[in-house]
Amino acid sequence: MLLKNKIAVVTGGTRGIGYAVVREFLKEGASVVLCGSRPETAEKAVNSLKEENPQWDVIGISPDLTKYDDVRTAFDAVAREFGRIDILVNNAGISAKEPFTEYTEEMFQKTMDLNVKAVYNCCRAVVDGMKSRGSGVILNTSSMVSMYGQTSGIAYPTSKFAVNGFTLSLARELAPSGIRVNAVAPGITNTDMVKALPEAMINPLINTIPLRRIGEPEDIANAFVFLASDKASYITGVVLSVDGLARS
Ligand code: NAD
Repeated sequence: MLLKNKIAVVTGGTRGIGYAVVREFLKEGASVVLCGSRPETAEKAVNSLKEENPQWDVIGISPDLTKYDDVRTAFDAVAREFGRIDILVNNAGISAKEPFTEYTEEMFQKTMDLNVKAVYNCCRAVVDGMKSRGSGVILNTSSMVSMYGQTSGIAYPTSKFAVNGFTLSLARELAPSGIRVNAVAPGITNTDMVKALPEAMINPLINTIPLRRIGEPEDIANAFVFLASDKASYITGVVLSVDGLARS
């Protein structure tokens, strides 16, 4: 098992890609704390995982990821209960598809608060502990649109470009402390986020994918498992595309 005895925190772990990451981490022997936006959704996800395998060591929490004090209090409690946090996966994210002229300041702020500021908050809350132990893994969730942009919903690609910059910079800063920082950039993946997008946006994109299908959450989760594991011990500052595209 690739993650035996590792303690992982996964934000947005209640559904979609995050849920698949939690599930694959558990299969690989990790203890996992999943974060949901509400206690009920976190509890529902934990119950469904426990139903699948009662031996899995998983609990749910629901701090407000956009508030540093909330995150710090919750993650400190996790570190006290489990002894430490080895792996942080920043996966929670939102998007709004409105065209630029209808895109409000509130939409922009809300997207940046969760997709960027929460990533800072969560990293800030684990890095002291990781530094003191001289090891740790931080994995962020970027997106294919962080390379290409997209035709509407301006804050989302903007936030994911920021996640890439954050990842590369933090990787450089923390590498001498033994902490690896990488990101996974999923392509179009079969989750609620994509089901909410108009077909007119998705279908032309599928035709441009050489593997001719959209990704499944497990396709993405497998990349997180690899980057979280010691198999990736010499990889930091990478944004790994998992999107079915062939690149030259
Ligand atoms: P999803 O909508 O299915 O799940 C989003 C997760 O984020 C949920 O667990 C939800 O509880 C959590 N979340 C939402 N708002 C929150 C809030 N305010 N506070 C705390 N948690 C909150 O989305 P998904 O498709 O699984 O996306 C997961 C990540 O992958 C996101 O960062 C997204 O940007 C990224 N991504 C998705 C795709 C895709 O095609 N699905 C492609 C590229 C990148």
